Amino acid sequence: MIKKFVKNLSNKNPTKDITIDDKYNKLKLSTANKKVLVKVDKNIIFGGKNIPVIAGPNGVESLQLMRKIAKNLKKNNINLIRGHAYKPLTFPYRSKQYSETQDQGMDWMDIIKDEYNLKVVTEITEIQFLNRVCETADILQIGSRNMQNLELLREVAKTNFPIILKRHFGSSLRDFLGAAEHILVEGNNKLILCERGVSIPHTHRDTSRFALDIQAIPALKEISKFPIISDPSHASFWAPWVPSLTYASIAAGCDGLIIEMHPNPKKSLVDPLQPLNFNQFKDLLKISKRVAKSVNRKIN
Ligand code: PEP
Ligand code: MN
Repeated sequence: MIKKFVKNLSNKNPTKDITIDDKYNKLKLSTANKKVLVKVDKNIIFGGKNIPVIAGPNGVESLQLMRKIAKNLKKNNINLIRGHAYKPLTFPYRSKQYSETQDQGMDWMDIIKDEYNLKVVTEITEIQFLNRVCETADILQIGSRNMQNLELLREVAKTNFPIILKRHFGSSLRDFLGAAEHILVEGNNKLILCERGVSIPHTHRDTSRFALDIQAIPALKEISKFPIISDPSHASFWAPWVPSLTYASIAAGCDGLIIEMHPNPKKSLVDPLQPLNFNQFKDLLKISKRVAKSVNRKIN
């Protein structure tokens, strides 16, 4: 029935901005038909039945904070911690509050990594930090603001680390996969795509940020065989909406999640409206497991 319906449609390629020419010439690696699994270790695989959860604060603020969070993640059976020590900010002004912990932050991550046996996901913002970040990270994140920083993409790809490439909030899927292609062409196939919200007219207000493009998940799964994960925290910027967006992402077929959490969200040095507290995070995991089961997937 559905097949017949699709056959009768005049638009045979609903992912309109990607043409057949793109598929075979410009995006040949990112749209290749072979399914890709990104393996971080034997238990953490993106793109299979399991949906790994990455959670943690926005910034690596202090060793004490990272210890608290690491302990909570372990309690919840989560093995991937996020936290950025190098951070791009929307506005250039850094204060004592909005500062980066940089190498110091990476040293703290090393400590909790050893103490809690966690894998680290952290952002790489500039090539000059690459060596230090690679000493600690297990997955390198390229943030949305750097999605088309081609020199950065190339150098990060060459490390052969797993990479999370976040979609820019104004980017078409064609441009997103074009950026991904710059990584793949360097021979690094450990690519994880991430939807993190886009700008639409109603988001151009100081009270809201982005809108999670849920539709990008099935669309990307249709045209690309790389894992696609969802970041509902950065999309909504608003903790009360994060659970619904998480469940919707799982139902839409996402292959992983990035959730911001903090023991005391109000005290988070960056974006305090967005992290879940520990209780909210626990509840989110509980319901996520049920949603995942209903679509024949599994959290973790
Ligand atoms: C982040 O993950 O902390 C972040 C800044 O994300 P994005 O690049 O999607 O804004
Ligand atoms: Mn952030």
